[in-house]
Amino acid sequence: MTDRPVDRPLDPDLWPATTTVAADGSVSIGGVDLRALAAEHGTPAYVLDEADFRRRARGFREAFERAFGAIGTEVDVYYAGKAFLSTAVARWAVQEGLRIDTATGGELAVALRAGVPGDHIGLHGNNKSDTEIARALDAGVGRLVVDSLLEVDRVADAAAAAGVRAPVMVRVTTGVHAGGHEYISTAHEDQKFGLSIAGGQALEALEAVLGRPDLDLVGIHSHIGSQILDASGFAVAARRILELRARLAERTGHLVREVDLGGGYGIAYLPGEAPLDPARVAVEMARAVADVCAELGTSVPRVSVEPGRAIVGPTTVTVYSVGTVKPVVVEEEDGAFTRTYVSVDGGMSDNLRPALYGARYSAAVVSRDGGPGAVRARVVGKHCESGDVVVHDVLLPADVRAGDLLAVPATGAYGRSMASNYNLVPRPPVLAVRDGEVSVLVRRETEDDLLALDVG
Ligand SMILES: *Cc1c(COP(=O)(O)O)cnc(C)c1O
Repeated sequence: MTDRPVDRPLDPDLWPATTTVAADGSVSIGGVDLRALAAEHGTPAYVLDEADFRRRARGFREAFERAFGAIGTEVDVYYAGKAFLSTAVARWAVQEGLRIDTATGGELAVALRAGVPGDHIGLHGNNKSDTEIARALDAGVGRLVVDSLLEVDRVADAAAAAGVRAPVMVRVTTGVHAGGHEYISTAHEDQKFGLSIAGGQALEALEAVLGRPDLDLVGIHSHIGSQILDASGFAVAARRILELRARLAERTGHLVREVDLGGGYGIAYLPGEAPLDPARVAVEMARAVADVCAELGTSVPRVSVEPGRAIVGPTTVTVYSVGTVKPVVVEEEDGAFTRTYVSVDGGMSDNLRPALYGARYSAAVVSRDGGPGAVRARVVGKHCESGDVVVHDVLLPADVRAGDLLAVPATGAYGRSMASNYNLVPRPPVLAVRDGEVSVLVRRETEDDLLALDVG
């Protein structure tokens, strides 16, 4: 046993790349002491390490370019904006050589406001509105990913009305479900996205696109899941898409030029978890694509991928202030123990994932070194909901107390982007830190913002 606090050292797979711990136990990110940041900007706050975001974006692009270059083709990396999008991060992604994926008119508007060139933007969505389709065509997006047979006609009609030829991809389901450590491979999928390869709807939609002169078929798209830690699902999905591509070519003479293998690359949320290594996945994916194309006797397509979580997730921590600390005796079969409920000034309104998916996180006190000893803690929010849990089970210093700053790492993806105003709690700001400077990417919501929507 050492007298090191139970929440040290901070696991480098969980915390942003520039995280440092001073001799007094206080934590800095991007050269900014979180105590000073909290004093100036308040809590809760999302703190995003700009250098780490850029490094991850660049790292993804370089790894995929290397792997797919080695099999003689090119690859585009689209940052999936739904994980977290603001004009600044869209610009950083583009500066690092990425393109931007959007799924709604709102995300498209942010990408356009950021100055992302239209042809470097993709638009997804299983239920796009006419306005969203028209806006995307007007912006000259590089791809609209159609998700149903009905949408083939809707996009074609919109393109005809606008006097343009719409670049479309067809989203297919490969029967590969992935998420977490395992993937499942079936023929059919019972979910709302995409058109089934096994059921024949994918081929039907591809042929329908080829039959419409207002549409330019640029690719076949698949996204197999999220938080994937087992790379083999991507290879199975790639095989099924490439076989579909070959079958379409046989029937129509049209060999689709691009294949998008989606996002879903998993990250570490808990100490000891190993994130999926982009360089390794890129090599495995490229090998699968090359092997299957060789087997089918087709040329290797251009490839694209759409990481969201793996780029922004680990770059961000949420900094909270601790309020109420309450011991609760919990009876279990093998005896009773005390769980310390540590309440923070946010909760399910700034991080919905634990309530939505049972997602697990870790936490550490970042304003000081904790004293010796540990308590078994549950970090909870301030909302009127017993499921308002931020961190289910974590060891914290025994002297954790009101006024401590507590940070939860790996909240960059699907944190602010899924935030709500439940209990009319204003949403926290997103603060970028870099080289000792803080810049506000998204400001804190105020009660005036909330009241402004209430028109009486
Ligand atoms: C959500 C989504 C992504 C990004 O997923 P991550 O798990 O954040 O990498 C990419 N493509 C599509 C179509 C998606 O729906």
